[in-house]
Amino acid sequence: MGSGMSSNAIRGPDSETALRVKALESLLLEKGLIETAAIDELIELFENRLGPWNGAKVVARAWTDPDYKTRLLQDGTAAIAEMGFEAVQGEEMVVVENTADVHNIVVCTLCSCFPWATLGLPPVWYKSAPYRARTASDPRGVLREFGTEISEDTKVRVWDSNAELRYMVLPERPAGTERLDETALAELVTRDSMIGVSKVARPD
Ligand code: FE
Repeated sequence: MGSGMSSNAIRGPDSETALRVKALESLLLEKGLIETAAIDELIELFENRLGPWNGAKVVARAWTDPDYKTRLLQDGTAAIAEMGFEAVQGEEMVVVENTADVHNIVVCTLCSCFPWATLGLPPVWYKSAPYRARTASDPRGVLREFGTEISEDTKVRVWDSNAELRYMVLPERPAGTERLDETALAELVTRDSMIGVSKVARPD
């Protein structure tokens, strides 16, 4: 899933960790232990496909099965486990629903706590200092940087994740998807929509 965003303060390269990773990568490459294409593929797999695909399946199920949706919003941990996705370290999962009235966005202001069970690895920008600081103070501004306009009538709610509690957004099901089955719906759901920085686009 290409985000298509230009680089800006939030999406800029990550600090020290990124440098350390780069250094390690260069070393492994130099020693001929790995190929750069293989690394890129792995990162892309965990960041954009393998991880978020679990969450996308949870969302599509909630969109098509009202009882499941009720369970998911009441007890995210159990409903997600029902689909076979377990927290890595026993973190609790809380799912918050986007509606016409409320838009939810997830952050970890302290570090980078992320719902691994459903979304895989956090994107670099999620861990960046500007995202962490500004999502708390100016969520609408951050949303705008992701190209997401939220109407003034819609309340924006920020959820601060931590080691024990991991939030995930249940995005709004877009119009024009009435005929799609669960698998086709899951394919529309992006990682960013489950963090709450974007909406799920209607299919073209
Ligand atoms: Fe954290």
